[in-house]
Amino acid sequence: MERGRIEEPDLTEILDLTAIGKLEWGHDRSGAAAIGTNVDYSMGAGISITRNLLEVRAGYVPDEWRAFSYLRLTSMTSDRYYLDNFPNEPLSPLGSRVLRVALIAVNTRNGRLSGEMQSCHHCGRPTGHLELYDAAHGIPEAVMSGSERVECVTCGPTFAH
Ligand SMILES: [Zn+2]
Repeated sequence: MERGRIEEPDLTEILDLTAIGKLEWGHDRSGAAAIGTNVDYSMGAGISITRNLLEVRAGYVPDEWRAFSYLRLTSMTSDRYYLDNFPNEPLSPLGSRVLRVALIAVNTRNGRLSGEMQSCHHCGRPTGHLELYDAAHGIPEAVMSGSERVECVTCGPTFAH
């Protein structure tokens, strides 16, 4: 957002910061099919001013699959920038990743994840990684054996560990 438009590094940074728990996600207060994070609240004014990013909002289709609909980034001057899920929008896959990882964060108790930065062979740089598993019937303690996996927040499941 430093150049006044949404660019790939903005999205990969939001993904990394979400994975390692720096950004706290919550449900949109309007009740719309969206979740959001306030950078100023989560990380302090120093970061939000430096990145020219006050708030991130991720909208989804309100059915059980919650498909990616749009991202809205709000700058420090309250300008709003949209990334819509169009077939020819090159950043759509990353926008979809932001929604996926944010939906995991918003369902934790404090809206923050506890992943770590690890080197990703596919991305060729350190990225946020999540340790995930499938839970039987959605019960957190009911880990389905063999479902444990490590996932790079940018490119998805890696099984690399
Ligand atoms: Zn990766």
